[in-house]
Amino acid sequence: MAGEFELIEHLLGQVRADRLTHPPVLGPGDDCALLKASSPDMAWAITTDMLVSGVHFLDQDHPYDLGWKTLAVNLSDLAAMGAAPRYVTLAAAIPPEDASDTTWIDSFFSGFMACARQYGVGLIGGDTTRGPRVFSVTALGEVLPGCALRRDRAESGDDVWVSGAPGYAALGLRAKLDHLDLPENVGTLAERALHHPLPRIELGLALHEVAHSAIDVSDGLLQDLGHIARASGLVATLRAEMLPAAPEGIDHALWRACLFGGGDDYELLFTAPPAARPSIQALSHTLSLPLTRIGYMQKPLGEGTIDSCGVQVLDAAQKFLDLALLSKGFDHFA
Ligand code: ADP
Ligand code: MG
Repeated sequence: MAGEFELIEHLLGQVRADRLTHPPVLGPGDDCALLKASSPDMAWAITTDMLVSGVHFLDQDHPYDLGWKTLAVNLSDLAAMGAAPRYVTLAAAIPPEDASDTTWIDSFFSGFMACARQYGVGLIGGDTTRGPRVFSVTALGEVLPGCALRRDRAESGDDVWVSGAPGYAALGLRAKLDHLDLPENVGTLAERALHHPLPRIELGLALHEVAHSAIDVSDGLLQDLGHIARASGLVATLRAEMLPAAPEGIDHALWRACLFGGGDDYELLFTAPPAARPSIQALSHTLSLPLTRIGYMQKPLGEGTIDSCGVQVLDAAQKFLDLALLSKGFDHFA
């Protein structure tokens, strides 16, 4: 492979044949793609996430997994808004070696496109440049504005729910970095959670009817729930005994750190009124996806300043856990 244009052509060759339910008016190849919403009532939900070598992934990571995850984390933001994914762009910085020997980038791109096809999104453009490996995706989805699942719409009295199996991705990362030996079944789940996250698109769409607010768990349960609590002017209380228990053979303290502070789960955290419990249980059954009620939202005690909003965890003896002892979630500049 030689230059930028051959590389772009090489990658995009595979994309043009894709059949999409919502094809763009004009796909990649010109100066811009052209898009039309599926109806005038729909709003565009737009999100960008960047993955940087050495920060979000390691060069030793498998490129196929990385390609999958690069797209999946962006689609997860659409899921958290209750939007239906439609289109993505991919801006890629890659070292010159990746352009001359395309084995790595081909594998990355296969993983990326596998995720795109699974969720029916079209790659409509991007940019390719030389540099240390950095991948930036912009994802566009459609949602009826009144149905969008916002962070600032939780209500006092809402239940707090989480999907899937939070904590496993962080456990997978800890196991990898610290060379921990996990029991085989736990290790397999943890590795899958870390490398092959599944954006909860169907759940996000189904939550239009039942949830007041939602966020995806990318930076840890406490931190992400804190975003809902503060945006909504409320306190979120998690009940320790309702949280997923440590998998067999996993140290309790390690599990708590992974569950509360570990990121990378890409599960949905949402709030809904207690009257919605039967519908949520039915939804869990329909989607074959665990949905676990883990706490509730309430008004802050006293005059609610923004500082009094946030997250607290109550144990079975009604004592508050010391959150300073638990990992607080990921912050790039902390
Ligand atoms: P321009 O110079 O007009 O920005 P480029 O030469 O950068 O155009 O790209 C040519 C076409 O290929 C554009 O339509 C662009 O969207 C697309 N493209 C470039 N890189 C990528 C990529 N990594 N993924 C998807 N499409 C890409
Ligand atoms: Mg360009």
